[in-house]
Amino acid sequence: MSENALPAVAKSIYTDCKKCAAERYHTVIAHTTATSAKVKCEICGAQKTFRIAKAGAAKKVKAPAVPGAPKAPSKRGAAAAAARKNAHTVEYNNLLTTYSEKDVVSYNMKGEFSAEMLVKHPKFGVGIVKTSLPMKIEVVFEDEVRSLVHNRG
Ligand SMILES: [Zn+2]
Repeated sequence: MSENALPAVAKSIYTDCKKCAAERYHTVIAHTTATSAKVKCEICGAQKTFRIAKAGAAKKVKAPAVPGAPKAPSKRGAAAAAARKNAHTVEYNNLLTTYSEKDVVSYNMKGEFSAEMLVKHPKFGVGIVKTSLPMKIEVVFEDEVRSLVHNRG
């Protein structure tokens, strides 16, 4: 018997809804294959196919895709690292929604950047300057906070 079983028909599962762009309870309507089921969002009624991982497949921890989504604090110590990563993503997304994208300036070590500026780095993407010191800045990027140099013109 597989340890990965589909939820029973008429049961509810918590999974993301594309239409709601959020995690929602979905009612299982029918099993379509041994590893997939048709489910319906209990909020908007959108239907989608829910798949379970095949036995042996690595389970991926997914970060919330929605900016400003409420963050669920993890109680499990084993998930602490993932939760930290998650919290960072939430912070980053919250910061991004606070600032307007049109204010993004290209990062350049010769430039001068002050706190709360949005910078675009060729490798790390768009980040928000958290701290500005005479010779370096701390920037919140999507994956982590990085120290970059500036004022080196
Ligand atoms: Zn929905």
